[in-house]
Amino acid sequence: MDTAQVVIVGGGLEGLAIAWALAERGVTDIVVLERNTLCSGGTAKSSSVVRCHYGVPSLAAMAWHGIEVFAHAEDVLGADVGYRDVGYAVGVGEQNLAALRDNLAMQRSLGIQVEEITPADMSALWPTMFVGDFSAFALEPRGGVGDAYRTGMAYAAAARRHGVRIMQHATAVTLATGADDRVKGVETAAGHRIETDTIVLANGAWATALTTPLGIDLPVRAQRAQIVMVTSGEQLGAAPVVSDLVGLQYFRVEHSGEVLVGNSDHSSPEYTDPDTYRDHADAGTVEVVAQKLTHRFPAWSQPGVVNSYAGCYDVTPDYNPVIGPAPVPGLFLAVGFSGHGFKLAPAVGRLVADLLLDGASSDPAVDHQDFRFSRFADGRPLLSTHRYVGATEMR
Ligand SMILES: Cc1cc2nc3c(=O)[nH]c(=O)nc-3n(C[C@H](O)[C@H](O)[C@H](O)COP(=O)(O)OP(=O)(O)OC[C@H]3O[C@@H](n4cnc5c(N)ncnc54)[C@H](O)[C@@H]3O)c2cc1C
Repeated sequence: MDTAQVVIVGGGLEGLAIAWALAERGVTDIVVLERNTLCSGGTAKSSSVVRCHYGVPSLAAMAWHGIEVFAHAEDVLGADVGYRDVGYAVGVGEQNLAALRDNLAMQRSLGIQVEEITPADMSALWPTMFVGDFSAFALEPRGGVGDAYRTGMAYAAAARRHGVRIMQHATAVTLATGADDRVKGVETAAGHRIETDTIVLANGAWATALTTPLGIDLPVRAQRAQIVMVTSGEQLGAAPVVSDLVGLQYFRVEHSGEVLVGNSDHSSPEYTDPDTYRDHADAGTVEVVAQKLTHRFPAWSQPGVVNSYAGCYDVTPDYNPVIGPAPVPGLFLAVGFSGHGFKLAPAVGRLVADLLLDGASSDPAVDHQDFRFSRFADGRPLLSTHRYVGATEMR
């Protein structure tokens, strides 16, 4: 029998950011259990887009904090984590122009650096892009792209330096509770038992396997996300990451010049098993990507598909995370990050440490109640204040 002050289940970006944030605040008697190898889950598949363009103020503020950490990662975590501030732009058509401006006003009120630019301005940044069906763009000069895997591994290394113990190939199979219904420990598949009175579940859609036996109906499931890598036939230089809310897609240029294309149309979600999903884009998806890109980049001379892969978002009904205590005392949830978990991770670590140690968020711009588990049962999901028509809640 082992003991720990805190056991974190899940060695992905969130679990590792939480471990580091707790350790920074002096809680170093922590065990992180990872059933596979570190950052091999959703973190490994992340497009790692950095943006603050959210319609939920807490999320925008959390993403803004994330940028500060990514930009100063060598000082904060002791390693460059691959953040590139190439800029992030979100483009909308006429029907979403008012929502865009309302969101920009909200983001500016939080101190986020953001500006509205015209389609012609955008053309100057992405010369081959057809912008005729956009009404405006929001540009975040400090947005861009990072590297979720490198960031997670930097958190792991920094947490280890504080003395955090990280166990790989260690699957948590049972959460034990005492007569008082409080958690009292974790057992792994190998029979290793760790006594603790605080367990943080940071294991995405896999968390339900541990919460269901405790009678907790956690509404988190895996949604397959397909990514297609393409070439343009052009010499593409650095350009902002673009969320195209007209075509419902996003794209960003890799160092190699290839373009990563992701889907932003979540009107027909494909829920799946996070252990057995198909790890390539379907032929139909590749065809849709080709059609959308032909429309968006008609001047590309030799467009072609390089390869594809798929990952799983761990989604909740409102596409926003659950960060807070579970109905079982001592059990804490940090799951359901959907397509947001990379950019939010530094703030998630900080928030979980705040809640476990102080019971409240230390950032006045981040209302921890937004992320409470009970919001689903209460019928009060966390929704954008200024929603985009056609873009679903993943925005
Ligand atoms: C295709 C794709 C694109 C994305 N793009 C972006 C983006 O551009 N920007 C952005 O901000 N976010 C993006 N995201 C989201 C972001 O990557 C995730 O939200 C984030 O990486 C999730 O981290 P996590 O630690 O919660 O989950 P994971 O990385 O999945 O980690 C959970 C870990 O728990 C482990 N585990 C599971 N069960 C157990 C158990 N019983 N015992 C021990 N360990 C267990 C798993 O092996 C896994 O390693 C994207 C996600 C995907 C899939």
